[in-house]
Amino acid sequence: MTKSIFFCAKCKTYTLNDKTCPNCEGRVVSPQPARFSIEKEKKYSIYRRKLLKEEIKK
Ligand SMILES: [Zn+2]
Repeated sequence: MTKSIFFCAKCKTYTLNDKTCPNCEGRVVSPQPARFSIEKEKKYSIYRRKLLKEEIKK
């Protein structure tokens, strides 16, 4: 049993339909995995840059 949720980028509706949005028949995307990893990656690199700057100061 799969419990993936999809998100219509067009009308911003969550759906369990993995092909098209029931509202507008737009393309649905799977929101969580990609967004989370990008967000994490960004935060991590900002943090790392800060650390590097601190290192250089010393
Ligand atoms: Zn839609």
